[in-house]
Amino acid sequence: MSVDRKTAWPYGPDGEPGDFVYQRYAHPTGAAAEAALGALEGGDALLYSSGTAAVTACVFALCRPGATIALAEGAYFGTGVTFAQFAPWGLKVVEFDQTGRPPADADVVWLESPSNPLLTMPDWEAVRGHSGVVVCDATASTPVFLRALDEGANVVLHSGTKYLTGHHDALIGATVTRDAELRERLYNARMRLGLSAAPDAAAMLLRGLDTLEVRVRRQTETATELARRLADHPAVLRVRYPGLGGLISFDVPDGSERSVETSTTLIRNQTSLGGVRSTMESRHRWEGDRIPVGLLRLSVGVEDVDALWADLSAALDQA
Ligand code: PLP
Repeated sequence: MSVDRKTAWPYGPDGEPGDFVYQRYAHPTGAAAEAALGALEGGDALLYSSGTAAVTACVFALCRPGATIALAEGAYFGTGVTFAQFAPWGLKVVEFDQTGRPPADADVVWLESPSNPLLTMPDWEAVRGHSGVVVCDATASTPVFLRALDEGANVVLHSGTKYLTGHHDALIGATVTRDAELRERLYNARMRLGLSAAPDAAAMLLRGLDTLEVRVRRQTETATELARRLADHPAVLRVRYPGLGGLISFDVPDGSERSVETSTTLIRNQTSLGGVRSTMESRHRWEGDRIPVGLLRLSVGVEDVDALWADLSAALDQA
């Protein structure tokens, strides 16, 4: 795949700018990847340097000082941490249970499908008709299982670092919207704050989208089976699996999570999720008391299901 890494393009013979001017504004590889993702989500996509950069762009584009964001309880820990950076600008954050109705007076409602790592799903009926801007972080559902714009979201957000690129080798984020004014505000935030995606990461996104559906369908099949086997294992107290995608979380008795996560070999003990290689980590040490001490987050890759179970069950047997 050829990647155009130019940071600037010559003006035309008449001295006027062509399609591309300066990489921070837009570049050909990014535009191609945006078209591909936009087609999957049914909207107009913009890419950013990370999922977190996409979150940052949303705050600047959608909020004013004093605005309130209603954030789904148990949503990705880092999203709340990013919002907290805006407290000096007067941004308020209230958490709500996304399986029910969001606070009516929020300026922005922030859903996550499914929430990472508690894996609750949003109640779309309950958000329809809300007066605020509805953002859905659909990183873990992917457009294969959710077209959030069809469900009533105004903006879909992805950490493309995860399933969309799918190989643990690119940091990238995205938003998708059908609203031209929101798209303009997001585009300006990206350009003016320097949040743009690099061409190489955009190329990895294009590559990943070619296999997205095959990967996540396989991951779903394997995760469904692993969730079933985990629920039957005596060392497992609780399994959370929403029935789609490759993310599972399960609880072992407090204190035994470290020995389980460090005993697997095929399943790598590392952070992140959504790649072709399975990864697992306990989350309490990063997220604190919002997460059970014994919670392990498992991101199922595309390896053989029996090989994964042999690895996991051996680790659990000695827990
Ligand atoms: N949203 C979700 C659901 C995530 O899991 C993550 C990262 O783990 C992010 C957003 C942030 O994305 P990035 O790490 O690409 O900045």
